Formats: sequence, structure tokens, C-alpha cells
Amino acid sequence: MKIYFASGNTHKRDEMARIFPNHQVVIPLDEGIDFDPEETADTFFGNAYIKAESLWKVVGQPVLADDSGLCVDALGGSPGIKSARFGSEGGKNLDSSARNDLLLSMTSSLDNRFCRFVCNMVLYLGPERFYSVQETLEGELLRESRGKGGFGYDPIVFVREFGKSVAELSADEKDLCSHRGKAGRAISRLLEQVSSK
Ligand code: IMP
Repeated sequence: MKIYFASGNTHKRDEMARIFPNHQVVIPLDEGIDFDPEETADTFFGNAYIKAESLWKVVGQPVLADDSGLCVDALGGSPGIKSARFGSEGGKNLDSSARNDLLLSMTSSLDNRFCRFVCNMVLYLGPERFYSVQETLEGELLRESRGKGGFGYDPIVFVREFGKSVAELSADEKDLCSHRGKAGRAISRLLEQVSSK
């Protein structure tokens, strides 16, 4: 079945297509739909819900949305829900690599490197019927970027279980351990249940 994913991020769309192999995952951009809702909530769930509800109002069929980010313990959970905009305050427009450099320089004197990727995923079937799952990928902030795969903060997060940065993981390895992979598989099981009823 075709399932709309409420995101403008093609990297996330490609991950979702792998995580939902039995469905055709489509983002608004793929169909020329203008989609850029304001993320005004202060939780991952709140923002995932806003994205899901806004796209559902446009397409009128089941929608998936995720809100995700990197939470650094020593920074009190920042950048967290502001991960996509981190460092871009005041009109600056940082690319991923500049954003990673900024985070590494802000944390260079910190010994506590624990961090986690968080993904809240919402399956929105209608205003009275939706599901939410929140998952994490636990890691440690590196001191410099490593690896060329993935996107966003992947090169600066080390996953002890694999002895690699997230950007050094294969796509299968990332899907297995990632916040999005784990949330997506839980939602996928729910999707099978609701579509068989
Ligand atoms: P969102 O699109 O508003 O959910 O913003 C998510 C942001 O968090 C992305 O733009 C990335 O900066 C970061 N992020 C989320 N998931 C990942 C991931 O799997 N790898 C690297 N960065 C991620």
C-alpha cells in the first residue's frame, strides 16, 4: 500500500522505504505537495503529531510522521527537538558538516560524551485514531567526524556495539540498531494489524 511519510527529508524517506519494504513510502515532495508545517511543540511526540495531522488533512489517508534528533547528556538533552535548526539561529544557514563541527567544538572540553538519537514516530489514521512509538539509539559523541554514510549527525556519534560511527555502519546495520529502525518496525507491526481489520 502507498503510505505518506510527513517529511521533507529524502534521507529519512530512503530509510523508511527500507524499514517498510512492503509499502511504497512517499513524501510530499515526491508528489509536488507543498509541506512545511511549523513545529511548535516542545516534545518529539508533539512535533511528530503536528506533521502527521497536517499531512493527513491534505491527503486524507493514513500518514506516518517522525520527529527525531540528537540529545547530548552533558548539554541537558540539547540539541534535541531543535537538532535540524541547531546553530542556525539568527538567520545563519549551517549545513550538516558545519553543524557537526559546531557541536564538537561546544563539547570539546566535556568528558561525559553520552548521547542518544531519539525518534518519535506517529501512525495517524484520523483525529481519533493514531499510534505513537518513541525509540532511541544510544551512543557517544566522537571528538572528530568519522565515515561518509548516513546523514546529519551520523559521523559524530559512535555506537559501541558495532565499534563504528553511525556514518560507518552499513544501511542494514543502521536500520537494525537505529532509533528510526526500531520505532519503524514497531509501527509496521501496528500497521499490519490495523490494515487486516
Ligand atoms: P526533523 O526532520 O525535524 O525530525 O529533524 C531531525 C534532525 O535530527 C535531522 O535534520 C538531523 O539533524 C537529526 N537526525 C535525526 N535522525 C538522524 C539520524 O538518523 N542521523 C543523523 N541525524 C539525525
